[in-house]
Amino acid sequence: MAAVELGGRLVDDRSRCAHYATPLDVVALRFACCTPYWGCHLCHAECADHPAVVWPAADRSVHAVACGVCRGTLSIAEYVVADGCPHCGAPFNPGCRLHHHLYFA
Ligand SMILES: [Zn+2]
Ligand SMILES: [Zn+2]
Ligand SMILES: [Zn+2]
Repeated sequence: MAAVELGGRLVDDRSRCAHYATPLDVVALRFACCTPYWGCHLCHAECADHPAVVWPAADRSVHAVACGVCRGTLSIAEYVVADGCPHCGAPFNPGCRLHHHLYFA
């Protein structure tokens, strides 16, 4: 599996960050504008040198999501309906659904 590059204000090696650090916050996301998987949208806002570009609706097959536990990646289409990681079974934070519009059109 290709190495997953993580970015942002990460506080551990499971992609938890200074903004979202509950036991369920193990998801890292990539934006359309750059390469790293960020701990969250605030990580991108504070650490990237450019505004975030959300994924167009046509890009649902792009693997823009990484599990911080096993570093497996998910496509956007897989992630938006997933309760947890399909690779290792780690549960994902259901509250993230409220923020999907910050990442995906
Ligand atoms: Zn970016
Ligand atoms: Zn963050
Ligand atoms: Zn996983």
